[in-house]
Amino acid sequence: MPDLDLVVKEIAEEMRQRPDRGEVATYIPELARADANAFGLAVIDADGNVALGGDAETPFSIQSISKVFTLTLALGKAGDRLWQRVGREPSGSAFNSIIQLEYEHGIPRNPFINAGAIAVTDLILSGHQPREALGEILRFLQFLADDETIAIDEAVAASERRTGFRNAALANYMKSFGVLENPVDFTLGVYFHHCAIAMSCRQLAMAGRFLAHQGRNPTTGRSVVVPERARRINAVMLTCGHYDGSGEFAYRVGLPGKSGVGGGILAIAPGKASIAVWSPGLDASGNSHLGRIALEALTKRLGWSIFGA
Ligand code: GLN
Repeated sequence: MPDLDLVVKEIAEEMRQRPDRGEVATYIPELARADANAFGLAVIDADGNVALGGDAETPFSIQSISKVFTLTLALGKAGDRLWQRVGREPSGSAFNSIIQLEYEHGIPRNPFINAGAIAVTDLILSGHQPREALGEILRFLQFLADDETIAIDEAVAASERRTGFRNAALANYMKSFGVLENPVDFTLGVYFHHCAIAMSCRQLAMAGRFLAHQGRNPTTGRSVVVPERARRINAVMLTCGHYDGSGEFAYRVGLPGKSGVGGGILAIAPGKASIAVWSPGLDASGNSHLGRIALEALTKRLGWSIFGA
């Protein structure tokens, strides 16, 4: 077995030198400020060993990676009833697409496209004030990562609220079908803010550990979800975590993963490790360009694809 720390540092160095860096997202103006040359990688194995490479300690906007954690919270609240509000099939279309919603009567394809994540956020919000729901999401991440310094980047949240016309369209459209229970503005406010949570690769890999270890943090022994739920969240990550790039990600990397337009990816090697990578330049599907390439190199060198060597 190659030395984990060495592999992580090697890959970070290789990525630092590559000229192809993808395109930084600009549709949320505040995200356009990200440095296209940044690259970070963090891997935490079953024994709690932490391997860091590049800018693994620099916080970035986790964006849609937050949807893994809101899905976990919503399943905790509603159990399988959640699946009446949102499907669990890959969409084959862009993360912010509206087209399927009309055919499918306002029920989003899966919890990771924007429409689905907005419906999940609405479920978490029901019975609470937006501030309470947001506090619950943030505290959940702080608990998982064992780090109370994790915070929301208010400038990113405000920037997205100012320009989030498509998300407002998706939310209003779902509201017209009765899929959202709360005032659209409230649901969107919570959604924009949880997308604007800032975390480093190390913090994110910490937060993902329960998914790699049957629902339990292997260091503290504390259970977050039952093993069956962790397995199912991983399944949805594998099939839907990269939007219309999910097939390519499974083909090349072979791990459940969730991307965000901030350039982060959380990937889970079941039984082995929780992995977070960050490089702000995106590919055409809105997934981190070098993030995917780095994960492909990592799983190849360590033999970690769930599909075999
Ligand atoms: N907050 C972003 C949006 O709603 C999240 C998209 C993403 O990360 N893919 O557009």
